[in-house]
Amino acid sequence: MTGFAEFNLDPRILVSLEKMGFQEPSPIQAATMPLILKGHDIIALAETGSGKTAACAIPLCHMVNVESKKIQGLIIVPTRELCLQYAVEAQKIGKEKGVKAFAMYGGEPMGLQLAKIKAGVQLLVATPGRLIDCIHSRAIDLSHIKTLVLDEADEMLSMGFFEDLEFIIQCLVQPHATLLFSATIPPRISLLGRKYMNQPHEVKLSSNQKSPKNLDHQFVYVKNVRLRSTVLSTLIQELAPKQSLVFCESRRQVEEVTRDLKRSKLMGVDFLHGGLAQNLRSQLTSKFRAGKIRTLVVTDVAARGLDFSEVTHVFIFQLGKDIDTYVHRSGRTGRSGREGLAISLVTSYELSLLPPILKKIGREINWLGEAPDVPSHTNSSPKSSGARGGKKRRPSRFSPPQTS
Ligand code: ADP
Ligand code: MG
Repeated sequence: MTGFAEFNLDPRILVSLEKMGFQEPSPIQAATMPLILKGHDIIALAETGSGKTAACAIPLCHMVNVESKKIQGLIIVPTRELCLQYAVEAQKIGKEKGVKAFAMYGGEPMGLQLAKIKAGVQLLVATPGRLIDCIHSRAIDLSHIKTLVLDEADEMLSMGFFEDLEFIIQCLVQPHATLLFSATIPPRISLLGRKYMNQPHEVKLSSNQKSPKNLDHQFVYVKNVRLRSTVLSTLIQELAPKQSLVFCESRRQVEEVTRDLKRSKLMGVDFLHGGLAQNLRSQLTSKFRAGKIRTLVVTDVAARGLDFSEVTHVFIFQLGKDIDTYVHRSGRTGRSGREGLAISLVTSYELSLLPPILKKIGREINWLGEAPDVPSHTNSSPKSSGARGGKKRRPSRFSPPQTS
């Protein structure tokens, strides 16, 4: 018997969970599943890798009536990769019970997808764009949906899907529960909650646990911006990660970094960004999951929400301005209790971004190699640096780190 038995789930779901190796519910699962099973609306906040997919897919599979071929649960996710990943996990959870989950996203023929749905899909996982196309062409029946899930809601909003989500929500006219999952809570999420949800229960698990203990954060000072690729390839060679992700700020940077890494004779390097054709993106995702790619250079959108459980190292080639971006990037490793290391390359241009990041993750700066010779505020503890308001000194010209 596993720790999931206490939720009075359909015994066939317990069998599936056991086969998947799920022994105990994660904290977010323990906190949200009883509410979802009771039919409450929820807004659930938890860091990446905490098990939000199953937190919602387990109760959904439990509640589905497999005698009916109608869509009963609709899950909206930001990206195609995430869509597939969600459907695969839901399908596994519902396997013994015979629940059919299906991923519907753009870039693949709509006709085939609709035929599959017509044949009987109870949990439909979809990206906003493709779903709206289907709604406009009156191709799918949403009238039996009892649960609407907005997964990675913060990401969908930052990708500009707010109006699309509103439209989708308004298409569901029958009573239904709405479940919103997110890693952060920007104001417009609260707005969605107030406007469209029925007294949602808020479940927050990320507030006091700042960054998973098993996730280590290190920073490497790079004196010269042009040396970044070289430093990265040296790091990869020396650390020899089992599998790593390299985060870049743009598609162009992704391609440049990949080229540089390949030139430095690193093996098993590839890249993934939103500009690639869908079938190629799917191929790369499965190659990476199968361990055939060791280093994958990515943009945020391409990697968002993906569960790459074997990723041991995350390299941040260039720090983003948004603190949440750092949390999401570093959260790609150290998943489900495994050890992980996030290493950021920092040039003098990014030094000013460090204090808020350190404050957010609740850590002190940990330089790998030499620390930059900088004014004390970027090098001090997050508390004292965060407290200093007023004029920002722009750390543009530092004397180079002392060589010993
Ligand atoms: P999130 O959506 O919160 O970022 P995921 O739902 O992608 O996280 O889960 C991360 C990983 O943890 C997945 O590989 C998932 O299969 C695994 N996982 C989830 N719940 C459990 C559990 N109760 N026991 C073991 N592994 C789990
Ligand atoms: Mg998720």
